[in-house]
Amino acid sequence: MKEVRTRFAPSPTGYLHIGGLRTALYAYLYAKKNGGKFILRIEDTDRERYVPGSVEIIYSTMRDAGLIYDEGPDVGGDYGPYIQSERKNAYLEYAKQLVENGSAYYCFCDKERLEKIHSEGATKYDKHCLSLSKEEVQARLDRGDSYVIRQNIPLTGSTTYTDMVFGDITVENKELEDNILIKSDGMPTYNFANVVDDHLMGINYVIRGVEYLSSTPKYNLMYDGLGWERPHYIHLQPIMRDATHKLSKRYGDASYEDFIKKGFLKEAIINYIALLGWSSKDNTEKFSLSELVEKFDLSGVSHSPSIFDEQKMRYINSLYVKEMTEDEFHDYAMKFYGNYDYLKGLDLRYLSSLLCSRVEVFSDIGKLTEFLTCFDGFDLSLFANAKWKTDVEVAKAMLPSLIELTENSFDSLHDALIAYGEKAGYKKGQVLWIYRIALTGAQSTPGGAVEMALLLGKEESLRRLNECLKRLG
Ligand code: GLU
Repeated sequence: MKEVRTRFAPSPTGYLHIGGLRTALYAYLYAKKNGGKFILRIEDTDRERYVPGSVEIIYSTMRDAGLIYDEGPDVGGDYGPYIQSERKNAYLEYAKQLVENGSAYYCFCDKERLEKIHSEGATKYDKHCLSLSKEEVQARLDRGDSYVIRQNIPLTGSTTYTDMVFGDITVENKELEDNILIKSDGMPTYNFANVVDDHLMGINYVIRGVEYLSSTPKYNLMYDGLGWERPHYIHLQPIMRDATHKLSKRYGDASYEDFIKKGFLKEAIINYIALLGWSSKDNTEKFSLSELVEKFDLSGVSHSPSIFDEQKMRYINSLYVKEMTEDEFHDYAMKFYGNYDYLKGLDLRYLSSLLCSRVEVFSDIGKLTEFLTCFDGFDLSLFANAKWKTDVEVAKAMLPSLIELTENSFDSLHDALIAYGEKAGYKKGQVLWIYRIALTGAQSTPGGAVEMALLLGKEESLRRLNECLKRLG
């Protein structure tokens, strides 16, 4: 059996979109599952849509996500160059071969004529230049007339191929247009370049978005016209943001990088996007990349679009966060702590131990640590707690003793608070409630009274308790 070769062929038009990354992932998984090669090719023939810097984002995203390509612009390989604009000279020769055997033709129609036929109701090019004699064509080429090369699609019959997900696809040839293969600037169109490059790069499994499903017959006619073996095709349904809109950068939908910034782990992003259009036979949902390589199969690829659900991705992420050791959690969380000035000076290692069981996505750190900003000017009515039957008066009565035991017994604070309650006739819950509110001024905190004191440290705890006493008057 021939080695499986798949490719991801993004156009550098901005950041790497989640939908694009999913295509890359499936192409990677299919190649690796079959012991084959995964190739990255940059399709930059549409210079108008080119966004500077996006190629670098593609490289770094793929690498960061673990989708390591065997061949590509920045890693080389035997089939390069892997950037389409650097392959410009290869295409014309093949287009000429198609002209030779009647599968394509030179077209000299100018913009005015094309506009005219369209204004007269034509929905596609009318093959006008197909009737030019060989001599006429040569004369116009010699004269230096501007031209394009168009594919010559048969007017009758149909073209069928078998998509590995969708099965047999048949398109009537009359539905297809004589698309341009080589533009007047000499650049190939996507329609032509993808065929030539896939062939020259030995790509035998083409995995891409379903929007290409119905133009694939055109590509197959080109393969046939050039005497090349057609590849296998796997088309993927889109990822939707809701029932009617595709997930897209046009709507500002998040990219891989945005999700990393939001505090999703790369393993979870890859895991989740694998599930957007594929499911395993046993309905398992948590997969590492290597498990995906093992489990991925085309029979699990969905025939219908999937809806991106950030809550579901949060849940998947939380499974990965739970698996982190406290040290791993802390190392990762450090990247986020820097965003919050109020965390300066705290024992962040200790903070991590409090947060690690509560964070689902690392940006939750913001919400979970907001309590640290509550102390200044907090509402003293927070001391009132119906369950514990506490209020401002109880707080006033307790605070001097709480300050004292913080001063003298900080190292055994828990026991000291319990002993104090017993001695003074308070329930444990009452003491802990008053103490925690006095320290933080926050209704809810990621940890109890003693944990808050340990987080703030003895000095800051004392400062706050004294300040609170002053406010109580
Ligand atoms: N450059 C095309 C795109 O970004 C690739 C399509 C394909 O994979 O053939 O949509």
